[in-house]
Amino acid sequence: MKPFRYDRASDVSGAVATLAGERAGVFLAGGTNLVDLMKLGIMEPDVLVDVRRLTSARIEDLPDGGLRIGAAVTNSELSADRRIRSRYPVLSQALLSGASGQLRNLATTGGNLLQRTRCVYFYDTTTPCNKREPGTGCSALEGCNKDHAILGASRQCVATHPSDMAVAMTALDAVVRIQGRGGERVIPITELYRLPGQDPQHDTTLEHAELITAVDLPPFGFSSNSRYRKVRERASYAFALVSVAAALQVQNGMVRDVRIALGGVAHKPWRAGKAEDALRGGAAGEESFRAAAEVELADAAPLRDNAYKVPLARNVMTRVLLDLSGQR
Ligand SMILES: Cc1cc2nc3c(=O)[nH]c(=O)nc-3n(C[C@H](O)[C@H](O)[C@H](O)COP(=O)(O)OP(=O)(O)OC[C@H]3O[C@@H](n4cnc5c(N)ncnc54)[C@H](O)[C@@H]3O)c2cc1C
Ligand code: SF4
Repeated sequence: MKPFRYDRASDVSGAVATLAGERAGVFLAGGTNLVDLMKLGIMEPDVLVDVRRLTSARIEDLPDGGLRIGAAVTNSELSADRRIRSRYPVLSQALLSGASGQLRNLATTGGNLLQRTRCVYFYDTTTPCNKREPGTGCSALEGCNKDHAILGASRQCVATHPSDMAVAMTALDAVVRIQGRGGERVIPITELYRLPGQDPQHDTTLEHAELITAVDLPPFGFSSNSRYRKVRERASYAFALVSVAAALQVQNGMVRDVRIALGGVAHKPWRAGKAEDALRGGAAGEESFRAAAEVELADAAPLRDNAYKVPLARNVMTRVLLDLSGQR
């Protein structure tokens, strides 16, 4: 492991200023992803700026009825919070489907959002990987790509985003609060993540030294009727092959409103806007749920080993919506 310096600032702006002066520095939170990547030589920072105790570790009620989650809130605390469990069950379920109890005790909200892909070639430093080493090529394109993306990928990278929590937050229209050198900016979570395009080394739209300080969950009337379903290769301790986060409001047999996001299918949590548009105002039933899923997946471009994800995503979406509509 390459030697590095450990730094601790006294406040958020101090941490941002310290990192801004260190081109090869990164923030450290729970360390459950970053330290693994450092041990493997995939990330080799000169400086770690510890932010674990700087950002808020509280979940606060907002005046509009939403919740603010401090970036240092652990995945365990967040999944167990009574308000999250009753008002945003999809988020609690997503968190509990990820990693293990021990990891969730350390993993933070900020770090979870920014964990790196689990593409096997990204972790194998003996193989070419544009995300790890820009310009070297993508080993997954012609390699083993059963876990890879079916939507929004490019010839430069076909990796998927690994976070379960981020998929639920995407369905919930979460808003991310970011502190940088120029002050605070606030963006929808859908604008935090990016597709790989020509420069897959960038997972997000964050600039160097920008710190996530909190995530806001806006209130909406039917968020309590929400669910997360994750399909994986074993019952626990595995990343999603496909996952679905959804919230549904049905009135008199018709879909009044709906939110859907997919995990395990793209470089970012995939908001299923086309399916939502197809569903709103229509009948709530298996046929329309399946048709909406097909609309969303019409652009899917599977690779050699992952065509199974298309029917899997369609079936899981249909099933989650049926569950939420009370028809199962
Ligand atoms: C065996 C194993 C299984 C796992 N299974 C799952 C799973 O099934 N589902 C799932 O979703 N996850 C899974 N994970 C990943 C786990 O959820 C992440 O490692 C964890 O959430 C990262 O949080 P952290 O606080 O430890 O981040 P760190 O490892 O400290 O940091 C991760 C990245 O975020 C950056 N960072 C941290 N905080 C901030 C901030 N506030 N602002 C800006 N940048 C920041 C760091 O610089 C780093 O680049 C698994 C991990 C392991 C080791
Ligand atoms: S899919 Fe992306 S992360 Fe995986 S090998 Fe290709 S470039 Fe690297």
